[in-house]
Amino acid sequence: MILDMMPLLCGEKNKIEFEFSYVPDKNGALCQTFSDIDFSSPVKVSGYVKSMAGYMFLHEDIHVEYSTACARCAEPVDGKMELSFEKDIADESVSEDNDDYIFLEDKKLDLIDPTEEELMLELPSKTLCREDCAGLCVKCGKNLNLGKCSCKQSEGDPRLQILKTLLK
Ligand SMILES: [Zn+2]
Ligand SMILES: [Zn+2]
Repeated sequence: MILDMMPLLCGEKNKIEFEFSYVPDKNGALCQTFSDIDFSSPVKVSGYVKSMAGYMFLHEDIHVEYSTACARCAEPVDGKMELSFEKDIADESVSEDNDDYIFLEDKKLDLIDPTEEELMLELPSKTLCREDCAGLCVKCGKNLNLGKCSCKQSEGDPRLQILKTLLK
């Protein structure tokens, strides 16, 4: 999604609204960074660019749905997230390497890059199927959400464990 910034730059408009959805590129930065997350539902983005006294900024609202594996039990789990952000925009003529700004290229603004950068910052690195997921037994690999396994669990007070070891 490329937004033509000319109406804003020449003062014809002081706000341009946009709305789009897209499926992240499998080879793009987002999918590469979160290789264990499946972004097959389109990411929905809406927002606007606004110009105020020669200063421009981007506002975006993002809605993302994804599927991944639970970080504890590896069962499939769906996640979703809503997030909003604002970022200053600078014309390429004043460009320097600066993370605080999004730079225009040929008076155009690429909206995918800032969207994916924000998602990379905000998406959780781990998703659980539920808050208290019991995970898998470290010995037999059974999903403990489905019931206990027959392995002896070495839970409890670690100090008692040391005592048990000493008594052997
Ligand atoms: Zn789980
Ligand atoms: Zn077990």
